[in-house]
Amino acid sequence: MIKDYQTQKDLRDHYDFCIVGAGPAGITLALRLAGNGWRVVLLEGGGREYAAYSQNLYKCPSTGLDVFAEETRLRYLGGTSNHWAGRCRPFEPSDFALSPPVNLPGWPIAFSEMERNLPAAMAILDLPLDSGFKTVNAAFKSDEFEADRFLLSPPTRFAQKYAKELEETEGLDVFINCNCVDLDFDSNTGRITAVVVSDYERQQERVSAKQFILATGAIENARQLLNSKSLAAAGVITEDGLVGRCFMEHLNIALGTFILNEGESREARQFFTKDAFVVEHHSGKGNVTASLVSAVETYGRLAAIKGFFENLACKAGMAHKIEFIAKFNCPGDGELGTMIEQFPNRNSRVSLTQEHDDLGMRMVNVHWELAPEDRETIKSIGLEVAKCFAEEGLGYVKLEEAVYDVSLPLKVVPHAHHMGTTRMASSPEFGVVDENSKVFGTHNLYVAGSSVFATAGASNPTMPLLQLTLRLADYLNHQMGPAAGRYS
Ligand SMILES: Cc1cc2nc3c(=O)[nH]c(=O)nc-3n(C[C@H](O)[C@H](O)[C@H](O)COP(=O)(O)OP(=O)(O)OC[C@H]3O[C@@H](n4cnc5c(N)ncnc54)[C@H](O)[C@@H]3O)c2cc1C
Repeated sequence: MIKDYQTQKDLRDHYDFCIVGAGPAGITLALRLAGNGWRVVLLEGGGREYAAYSQNLYKCPSTGLDVFAEETRLRYLGGTSNHWAGRCRPFEPSDFALSPPVNLPGWPIAFSEMERNLPAAMAILDLPLDSGFKTVNAAFKSDEFEADRFLLSPPTRFAQKYAKELEETEGLDVFINCNCVDLDFDSNTGRITAVVVSDYERQQERVSAKQFILATGAIENARQLLNSKSLAAAGVITEDGLVGRCFMEHLNIALGTFILNEGESREARQFFTKDAFVVEHHSGKGNVTASLVSAVETYGRLAAIKGFFENLACKAGMAHKIEFIAKFNCPGDGELGTMIEQFPNRNSRVSLTQEHDDLGMRMVNVHWELAPEDRETIKSIGLEVAKCFAEEGLGYVKLEEAVYDVSLPLKVVPHAHHMGTTRMASSPEFGVVDENSKVFGTHNLYVAGSSVFATAGASNPTMPLLQLTLRLADYLNHQMGPAAGRYS
């Protein structure tokens, strides 16, 4: 049943599982565990709909590259699935076999661990199971790129799709407007004993359970751990440790423009790096989308004025003259966009600030930066795409200077894929959670979501994070043994 914690404070004395955050990860885990007969509480900080009082708690300064952390997350039931786009691309064996060319290891688990939960994750995202991931046009003949492949989810909105199950699943209590503000850790037992929750009047109480799972998204999962006073006092979490580090995004870069040769199809093309390319160039993976601009692109509050201005300029053939005022492309121009892998990098991080939010939690800053290896990835992909265009007679590419001159600042826009801040590793030297997503130094605290990604590949994160969440559900179910004390 879904209850509003602001007015209904009827939490039970004790649960088997306490899950914090009701986005795709939290909802999936809660339904799986409750479906197996466990007594589960799912705590959601926001309400049923978007509201400023909740969203304001996501305010988050940033340094380095701009991450748009407030705009790219939603803090209410269903989480960011309330506005995700639904693009799904599976991880590949090489994502788990190749180590990143930086001083951090790759995934500590085998690809098969992900693969076995692919059909179930696809079903959750309403993807057709029998169609496979379709290949979109087109591959080059070279060894460097193949055609990308992906499926589009409707996109699944978790709060709507699972509304009935969240209301009716026996053993599951869902509380909205119920914010986790602290984690109580007992250093004698190595266990979390309770999470501290708060309503919007700052009334607090403790929720106790046998096992706890954070599923609040990659920025907040790190923030929850960094905010826990008792985890810090016990030395399990330190402000300068790995928690919050290795924040990764997929890199959205305007690589350049192209002129299509006469007679070539005007359909958009999506290329994806082949493993041979990644190995040869010691680079990350990447998608390159080549598309023709069909209308003048506008965005922001001045869209109408800008559109008028740009249309006029294109029609009058003066685009190049006013490019220095407002850079844009005219209809018919070709653009090369990307979704490129970023390597884990300790300096790219979520860290505590001295400011507190309205509920008394310390805020975090996101410092997003690229490593030299990322610039090399972007350069290799840009140069190879340009070469393939020319060699195959597709057209001519003009790359942005900052793509091949790595000393120049490069404009990078986020894809809203936040990953890596509680990375999975086989030892605490290299990660925050172990192979089973359990926080190192604790016996009953787990993390679900893309914050556990050891490397990011160039695959959209939601389907893989669900595959891992389903794996975690199996593990937790097995760990607890038969659900004997059901609903006692
Ligand atoms: C515009 C946009 C487009 C996207 N498109 C795609 C796409 O095409 N493909 C793809 O794979 N991914 C896409 N994504 C990313 C996708 O939305 C995320 O990967 C996914 O939502 C993450 O799920 P999650 O459950 O881990 O976290 P979230 O969805 O962020 O859910 C976290 C939940 O925790 C709650 N919460 C936070 N703090 C607390 C607290 N202290 N106490 C209690 N509850 C709390 C939040 O309210 C929220 O409900 C897109 C994102 C954006 C912004």
